[in-house]
Amino acid sequence: MSENLSIFRYNLIKNYILGNIMKILNMESFILEAGVQLPTTRDMSAYNGKAFKCVCGDIHNFESNMDFRNFMTNSINAKMIITCPNYPNMATIVKTKYKFLFFFDKFESLAGTKQ
Ligand SMILES: [Zn+2]
Repeated sequence: MSENLSIFRYNLIKNYILGNIMKILNMESFILEAGVQLPTTRDMSAYNGKAFKCVCGDIHNFESNMDFRNFMTNSINAKMIITCPNYPNMATIVKTKYKFLFFFDKFESLAGTKQ
């Protein structure tokens, strides 16, 4: 009983860090989901060290020297495709999430592809 409760608590915390359940898509749907790619790469070094959930099942810390591309959003949020640092055939669409409009809260993983 108490063990179940601690597992429940553990999952609550884990789900918050990991964010929502990401969609696993084939490459075509994945590219559609990402939307319009920005012609220039934004400087994302402000996000260095922030954790994101990768489609490989692991959590990685974002580094601006990783392989990533920026995509258009209709808000201040940044959206990007990040290639998994361990498996170059896997990629995740990650979006920044803010609290009270100004404070970075976390990365939210929207979708992933394993090609
Ligand atoms: Zn990964």
